[in-house]
Amino acid sequence: MNALRERKIGVLALQGDFAAHGRMLDRLHAAWVEVRKPEQLADLAGLIMPGGESTTLLKLIASTPMEPALRAFHAAGRPIFGTCAGLILLARDVTHPAQPSLGLIDVAVERNAYGRQVDSFEAQGTLAADNSGAERPLEMVFIRAPRITRVGPGVRVLARHRDEPVLVQSASVLGATFHPEMTADLTVHEAFVAMCRAGDEAAASAAE
Ligand code: GLN
Repeated sequence: MNALRERKIGVLALQGDFAAHGRMLDRLHAAWVEVRKPEQLADLAGLIMPGGESTTLLKLIASTPMEPALRAFHAAGRPIFGTCAGLILLARDVTHPAQPSLGLIDVAVERNAYGRQVDSFEAQGTLAADNSGAERPLEMVFIRAPRITRVGPGVRVLARHRDEPVLVQSASVLGATFHPEMTADLTVHEAFVAMCRAGDEAAASAAE
């Protein structure tokens, strides 16, 4: 068996808080690279789409070669993790205001759903710790955050804040309305790195 060469995780670095995601991956000893061009997606284990401003991000992605490259990346089953604006881009439906999106995870999101008075806040939510239904608290930072208003079949809710879904996962897409990269807690990034490593191992055994 060939030694497993671990592929890097990409962090989309077109706009937004990509550097903070990189620091989380460093703490997890996961190799990563900033992604600015579609051809950089070719050899990645997974991709993080950070928060920022989804309208701006959409302009930089839609109708550029990045859009088909992202769709192909997803169609190949490679994991994508979107936080806040990143999730807005990945969602199937976007409202308030409505905006086109990639539609790679079957949820609806309402943008800026907490109103101007509470632009940003920190809160404690609950994370489903395992499949037994056990839960544990998780610190969450919300910044002009969207709300998930519909969760489609096949999408699991991994964490909630005040009973609302804030961390969701379909087969290969993970999405958070909050910013796990802005807390000290590595759990959410650890889960994404595990999704990427599982894909890497599957690719390595298929190549044997
Ligand atoms: N409010 C932003 C948007 O709608 C998202 C904010 C964020 O990513 N922190 O795009």
